[in-house]
Amino acid sequence: MQNNTIANTIQMKFRATKYSLMIIGYLGIALMFVLLIGRGRVIYQEYKEPDVIAINSLLGPYVLEYKVLLEGKGVDIPWGSDLVRIKFGMTMPSRVLGIAWGMNIDNVTFVEINFNSWRFLTHQQKRLVMFHELTHDVFNVKHFDIVLMNTPMPENITKQKVDLWIEELIEYVK
Ligand SMILES: [Zn+2]
Repeated sequence: MQNNTIANTIQMKFRATKYSLMIIGYLGIALMFVLLIGRGRVIYQEYKEPDVIAINSLLGPYVLEYKVLLEGKGVDIPWGSDLVRIKFGMTMPSRVLGIAWGMNIDNVTFVEINFNSWRFLTHQQKRLVMFHELTHDVFNVKHFDIVLMNTPMPENITKQKVDLWIEELIEYVK
């Protein structure tokens, strides 16, 4: 009789332990879900970076200058949230210096620069082309809205002129 009671007590304790472990296990899984989902949401809202960033290394310095100059003046650049692609096109018509494929497509920044024309441009002309195409693409600015967006590219481009047009751009998108 006494043995029987002890056996019952042990069995009850064992069952209680088993249920406790199960409950702890379920709570643990639930907590993991909360943490994972919570973390995912935070990452999306505060740390969302474009899924793919692929920028040609020769064009990279111009993209960096765009980013540094504009962000330095407090401008948030709305890069494509899914794709930032800046590349050379090898088969573009010679009169086209660049194309902003991502213009008016919010989640995509996709600029293509005509390699065959690029080779013959001066540094200041290259700055102008890159700022022009990036501005089409990320801010959806149209031709002739500001001097930077005039077309075709003017003659006798100096650093002073390009700097001035960039200042005008910053005021325009601020
Ligand atoms: Zn244009």
